[in-house]
Amino acid sequence: MSPTGSALSSHFIKEIILEDLKTQKYQGRVHTRFPPEPNGYLHIGHAKSICLNFGLAAEFQGLCNLRFDDTNPAKEEVEYVESIQEDVKWLGFDWGDRLFYASDYFEQIYDCALQLIQKRRAYVCDLTAEEIRAYRGTLTEPGRDSPYRNRPLEDNLKLLERMRAGEFEDGSRTLRAKIDMTSPNLNMRDPVMYRILHADHHRTGDRWCIYPMYDFTHGLCDSIEGITHSICTLEFEDHRPLYDWFLDEAGVFHPQQIEFARLNLTYTVMSKRKLLRLVQDGQVSSWDDPRMPTISGLRRRGYTPESIRNFCDRIGVSKSNSVVDIALLEHCLRDDLNKRAQRVMAVLHPLRVVIDNYPEDQLEEMEAVNNPEDPGMGTRKVPFSKVLYIERDDFREDPPKKFFRLAPGREVRLRYGYFITCVGVVKDDQTGEIIELHCTYDPRTRGGDSPDGHKVKATLHWVSAARAIDAEVRIYEHLFLKSDPEDVEEGDFTKTLNPDSLTTITSCKLEPGLAEAKPGMLFQFERQGYFCLDPVDSIKGKLIFNRTVALKDSWAKIEKEDKK
Ligand code: ATP
Ligand code: MG
Repeated sequence: MSPTGSALSSHFIKEIILEDLKTQKYQGRVHTRFPPEPNGYLHIGHAKSICLNFGLAAEFQGLCNLRFDDTNPAKEEVEYVESIQEDVKWLGFDWGDRLFYASDYFEQIYDCALQLIQKRRAYVCDLTAEEIRAYRGTLTEPGRDSPYRNRPLEDNLKLLERMRAGEFEDGSRTLRAKIDMTSPNLNMRDPVMYRILHADHHRTGDRWCIYPMYDFTHGLCDSIEGITHSICTLEFEDHRPLYDWFLDEAGVFHPQQIEFARLNLTYTVMSKRKLLRLVQDGQVSSWDDPRMPTISGLRRRGYTPESIRNFCDRIGVSKSNSVVDIALLEHCLRDDLNKRAQRVMAVLHPLRVVIDNYPEDQLEEMEAVNNPEDPGMGTRKVPFSKVLYIERDDFREDPPKKFFRLAPGREVRLRYGYFITCVGVVKDDQTGEIIELHCTYDPRTRGGDSPDGHKVKATLHWVSAARAIDAEVRIYEHLFLKSDPEDVEEGDFTKTLNPDSLTTITSCKLEPGLAEAKPGMLFQFERQGYFCLDPVDSIKGKLIFNRTVALKDSWAKIEKEDKK
């Protein structure tokens, strides 16, 4: 069982861990880590990695560290460090007292570099980045040795010290591992271990002007923290020999790197670099725009941690890349919200209805069920009065064949209210637009029940005009028009942005109880979908609801068809 109570599915990484436990490879320890680079906000892909790393630790009574991989001061910021911690916590995971930074180990990493120079396994190289690239060769051609490859040991030590002391310009020198310029694996062709970068670091300030590269840093951090299983995405498979080489040459504790397929989702871009671009170009309001696949965007949209964890469990963990249908994520969300969201009535596009035979000053409190899935959630009172709002779409003056909702002369049920019959239509003299309906009600149908068993074909939601509260509602569609946003003939992924991904409806009418809603609270607006009170833009006196997800479940349909 997982910490969250769901029985998690098995996968190849669990098999590896079970085997390691059997053979006592790490004395029965399981210690993982989640290692984000603080160069952006976390996204749903990171959630997969978080659930996997923290989930495995919990399942095997092990530990999971949160470690910031902060070796690139040019792109990293404290804002990101903070948001990442908030997101991991919100997802329901706890790193205890094990919050680390790669920058905590800069001194140890530097010592290791000196040691590799001593062992003649590293050298200072004066080639420029471009020259290094040219010397590296290609997949079909071997590389050539750098002219600095056989520098005397003493010179290397001195030069590295001078690099650290700030004597050289950015890019003028590097420290490189001395491995094999003819290796078929390009990562093994004397990779760079340190580069010169005169930039302030968000934690170490100006203490360093050389920064260790990812491949050199990562394994050492894992080793220092006693990580047993260092889980990363498939692109790092070709880096594993290098991960192993550094640890073996350094002669330190050797965790094992295991790769799994990253999450890709339809209608979504996932890389932080691309998400940053959307923010910077103003295509979205911020990192937590409810259309963003970021954890903070999903949270603001109304996603629950449970639904995301459930999704991560359902997609599984494998070795082959694939693209997951975003409908599955939405399905997991509906599944969760169906159980927890209170039902309420909200009219998004109001049409006034006057009940001609209803007493002018009367106001009745009708009893409404809060959640038919959970009787424990009780009931509430909803006011009914002479003037109501219904949804504009629920009336047709000239109804087509299969339209069973309100039309002239037709009777429908108002949920928890009464049966009403349309007896008149008022139009704007100038535009011809319908501005009001006149109806009569049947007093014998209080609560929406028919006394004599006669049936109506439609049940509508409504709110009392006298007591309605106003709200703005934001309807979201996919941020991209194409299921693969990268699939563009010209330009880049921004070409496939959906111009209608946000629709704002300003004059919605809600049942009065919603005035008490707290930011982030979730509701089902009957017949419309799930909605969440926006925690950022809602202010006192102005309610703004995000549509979290519509009711229609396209995934359930896919599953049903698969079973046929
Ligand atoms: P991005 O390209 O989106 O910036 P990244 O891999 O550079 O992603 P990191 O901050 O380095 O981002 O990632 C932290 C951890 O999350 C890594 O272990 C990485 O493998 C994992 N991760 C990142 N993206 C995904 C994804 N789409 N699916 C699963 N795991 C992911
Ligand atoms: Mg990265």
